[in-house]
Amino acid sequence: MALKDIIGQERAVNILQGCIAKERIPHALLFAGDEGIGKKLTAVNFVKALNCNKTVKKPGSEEVMELLPLTSSLPDSITPSLPDSCDACSSCTKTEKRNHPDVFFIEPEGDGEQITVAAIRELEEALRYKPFEGNYKAAVIDQADRMNAAAANAFLDTLEAPPPQSILILISARPEMLLPTIRSRCQRINFNPLPLHVMCALIQERSHKVSREHAMLLGELSGGRLGYAMQEDLIEQRDHAFTTLKDMINRTDEEEGGDMKELLDSLQVWLRDMAVFKATGRSDLLINRDREDEMTALLRGAALEGILKLARELYNIRKNMYFSLNEKLTRNYINLLIRKRLGRIHAGKQ
Ligand SMILES: [Zn+2]
Repeated sequence: MALKDIIGQERAVNILQGCIAKERIPHALLFAGDEGIGKKLTAVNFVKALNCNKTVKKPGSEEVMELLPLTSSLPDSITPSLPDSCDACSSCTKTEKRNHPDVFFIEPEGDGEQITVAAIRELEEALRYKPFEGNYKAAVIDQADRMNAAAANAFLDTLEAPPPQSILILISARPEMLLPTIRSRCQRINFNPLPLHVMCALIQERSHKVSREHAMLLGELSGGRLGYAMQEDLIEQRDHAFTTLKDMINRTDEEEGGDMKELLDSLQVWLRDMAVFKATGRSDLLINRDREDEMTALLRGAALEGILKLARELYNIRKNMYFSLNEKLTRNYINLLIRKRLGRIHAGKQ
């Protein structure tokens, strides 16, 4: 794929193509936005366009960029093509396969899921030399907010004296966790969730077997994040969270594993529905409409205040999960909170 194939992030893509057309490539970019929204995909394809053997700056493309807000309304025949990768040359292929000698990918690793100072130093070293094959040396730093303190400080040095012909792309769903000094040295590009009707159309386009109702559910559960919506187990994950919620209320839960972050994300969707139903009594406003009966049964006796309180408490726990919390203690604590807030409910055996 190429930049032109990225769906729903036209604004971000236009800015990047504008940089190439004007030959003004920032030293550091920060791609900010929710997980699963296309930040990394855009980063990889931007790097491909930068280093592609066939990317030619179209004559007049600079002027076209000035008119960009208007180009979408121009007929195809006179819409000029914007700089993009060919997606076929050796440079594009190597970048796609992640074995281009000038393109580096960094992501959190190890038990602590952190980006370490060793990884940053290695990058620094690699960026010091001129590109071997491409026009630019590029580094894509995924979950950049996971740099530990030492790594962040080392990275700051690189940002302050960027090596020539290099570009650093930081990707983050939690940009507020980055050092302000890092943030201020990057040009920020925001990525936004897709509207529900667009999501719905895209999901159905990609998977013809999916009904409109099913696509709506996936669109809503994913919060407008296409990458996330196309995950196969999104509904399974939601159902698992509901079962866990019922088990916790009924005190029948067994010691079990599973991804806590996923569980907390899915629980938020259920609590959102519970609160909406409690406040309005309207089932047409629910995300999990297909399991309305079970949910309303579970709601009997719960107070809106308790549901909202629980949602806030679980949200805070989820936020703090980026620091290494003890999994077992956290699970027990969640269990306790759920019983405390929704404990008067007896869901019965379903
Ligand atoms: Zn190419």
